[in-house]
Amino acid sequence: MRRETKLLHYGRPPLPGPANPPVVRASTILHETVESFDDTRSRRETDDSVLSYGRRGTTTAHALMAAIADMEGGDACYLFPTGVAAMASTLSAFLRAGDHLLVVDTAFHATRTLCGSVLSRNGITVDYFPAQATDLSAWAKPETKAVLVESPGSGSFDVMDLPRLTSWAKTRDLVVIADNTYGSAWLYQPLQLGCDVSVVAGTKYLSGHADVMMGASTANHRAAARLREAVIVTGQTLAPDEAYATLRGMRTLNLRLERHEQNALALADWFAQRPEVESVLHPGRRDHPGAALWKRDARGCNGLFSVIFKERFPLRPFLDRIELFAIGTSWGGFESLALPIEPRKNRLDGHRLPAGPAARFHAGLEHVDDLVNDLAKGMAGALSN
Ligand SMILES: *Cc1c(COP(=O)(O)O)cnc(C)c1O
Repeated sequence: MRRETKLLHYGRPPLPGPANPPVVRASTILHETVESFDDTRSRRETDDSVLSYGRRGTTTAHALMAAIADMEGGDACYLFPTGVAAMASTLSAFLRAGDHLLVVDTAFHATRTLCGSVLSRNGITVDYFPAQATDLSAWAKPETKAVLVESPGSGSFDVMDLPRLTSWAKTRDLVVIADNTYGSAWLYQPLQLGCDVSVVAGTKYLSGHADVMMGASTANHRAAARLREAVIVTGQTLAPDEAYATLRGMRTLNLRLERHEQNALALADWFAQRPEVESVLHPGRRDHPGAALWKRDARGCNGLFSVIFKERFPLRPFLDRIELFAIGTSWGGFESLALPIEPRKNRLDGHRLPAGPAARFHAGLEHVDDLVNDLAKGMAGALSN
């Protein structure tokens, strides 16, 4: 069956019944007999879909876990209250005091903060490597245990050659963890490219309506047991209402992503022909250094891109003037967003990027003509001042 069809049927309850799995709110699960209780306890040790206690998720979360595991092509998926929580739990599942972690230098800012605070206090050392590297021998140590990748990287959208990098990692028996929020289990499948775990902030496109916080971590056969143990012993779960809202949003994931992609490419084209623009960073544009790799490994692009303007461009007045693009963090909802960014910051080869003022845009689902008109009006206003 095609992925588009499966997306609409994940978690369908028995008929006659509703199309979506209902919100099942429960802590205690009641049994009539001790035998039934004991039976549930033993079956849940090997089956994540057994309803045993609220902390292990109810049927609502179980439907979502099965859906994401299938989309990522993984053995098991676990849910978390935020994307950052998913990343923190996943890293702690595979690392202990004395271990060394290699992280791509374009990683999401909160991932860097996690590495520099809690992980380092717990005795885990971290080094950063450039997104273009595929052989990490120069950065690896005897105590290196894991590699954290993110492709395309946050802000500059550098594309990584995951098949080559993961085959290097296999020679050292390292666990490779991917932040797959850009691809959101639909556009990109890191587990098929050799990674062991794929983390997605479902806060973004999975839920898709700017009203849910959630994270998911999906592991292959090699990594599933370690991830499962960490999730269970630390009591990670996602509330049933949030699981429901995520699965409901996911029914239209493919359609939304198609429109986000079309709109973002059109807006990127518009910026690229403006004399005020130095560079447009979008992995689907032919002038992007990672475009061929992305085309080889992914099924498309999302609504994100960044623009680096010429040095004296009045970025803040421009962003303040555009009306259909609100200023805000996060992305992946239906609405357009803009945010000033510093794409050179924290990057080992940041000097490669122009130094002018920069912004990241998220193209929402509005009609593209309205978005372009809004940008043109904002640009004219900012320049005439
Ligand atoms: C948003 C985001 C996260 C964190 O997700 P939250 O749900 O906001 O905690 C992690 N990685 C990437 C790439 C993100 O964009």
